[in-house]
Amino acid sequence: MRDSTISKHLALILGFFGVSANLGGTIVSFLSGLLGFSKAKNYILDTLVCLVCTIFLATAFLYMCFKKKKYARFISIANIFSGFVSFPAMFIVTGNFICGFPFYIMIIPVYYGFSVTINKLKRWLPVLNYLLFLVMFILTFKAPFFPGRRLIPNLNWLENCVAFTAAYFFLFYVCYLVANQFMLQNQTLEESEKRYKELSSKDELTGLYNRRSLANRAELGFSCAIIYDIDYFKNINDTYGHQTGDKALQILSQIVLKYCSNEFELFRYGGEEFVILSRLPEDVTLELFQHVMHDVRMNFIIEGNPVTISAGIASFCKDYNRTLKIADENLYLAKTDGRNKIYMNGDEIRY
Ligand code: GH3
Ligand code: MG
Ligand code: MG
Repeated sequence: MRDSTISKHLALILGFFGVSANLGGTIVSFLSGLLGFSKAKNYILDTLVCLVCTIFLATAFLYMCFKKKKYARFISIANIFSGFVSFPAMFIVTGNFICGFPFYIMIIPVYYGFSVTINKLKRWLPVLNYLLFLVMFILTFKAPFFPGRRLIPNLNWLENCVAFTAAYFFLFYVCYLVANQFMLQNQTLEESEKRYKELSSKDELTGLYNRRSLANRAELGFSCAIIYDIDYFKNINDTYGHQTGDKALQILSQIVLKYCSNEFELFRYGGEEFVILSRLPEDVTLELFQHVMHDVRMNFIIEGNPVTISAGIASFCKDYNRTLKIADENLYLAKTDGRNKIYMNGDEIRY
């Protein structure tokens, strides 16, 4: 999946939030153990477990986000690591109310709520994670060998589980709704941006790419440029009206478009002038354009009269402007030599 701006921001939030929570757990575990609040026998081990989790998440965060720039991947790592490794470990070693663990644990549904829509995480992961915590809570009460501690010491196992379930799904759902809304807005924005870009790069009348996009596409490299211009177009406007002139521009575009591809691209250069950028070898370009000229001669008919075009071709030379200038000089030769002709390197190319 592309790492959109949303994934980037979300990954950064999850990273800072997750690392801070783990670090907070480490400090609280150490201090509450040291001062005797948590009544943990081995608080140094507890603190070390939290510290290892913090270091792992911080390393993953720095590496994936800042070095590799793989934000979407980091979101998955942060979710899975926090839900299945770091928080269960913290529950086992420091998991009671005094250490603030019930608050930390609620980071998990917040993480999932925000990431499920954006990161397309598997939807069963939060459910699996929720079940894992339930099993751990029940074990804490029911299995004496399990080292976990009661979340809220004065609640029984059922009350603990119900409180956890309610908080988990409430937080998950609220965050999910917010993220979903955010995604929808972002999608609409992206779509309209795409549409505006498309509109600004196309010519309204013919649907061809316009002169502005010609400069952008030329940056991608090409082997030859062709400029062609309708002969005596002014007469069409004068005789049949501007609307018929417009129709003629559309008909000509449709004829030439049949030959176009990514390698042979057509643009409306302005008025009744068009440009083709060809990435095909010179001889192939020439042969293809001879077919175009032939097709135009046979099928470009306005109000029963055949209309012709004249063309100038230039091989790529130095830069885009210089190449178009040479093509234009050849077009001028084709015009002065009587029109309905192709010129290249100062010579007529027969078709
Ligand atoms: P030549 O053979 O030398 O090219 O002669 P021409 O009459 O084709 O060339 P000229 O430059 O004298 O006239 C071009 C005309 O094209 C003038 C302008 O009004 C018309 N034109 C430019 N853009 C459009 C358009 O979008 N629609 C219509 N209908 N006419 C247009
Ligand atoms: Mg003309
Ligand atoms: Mg012209």
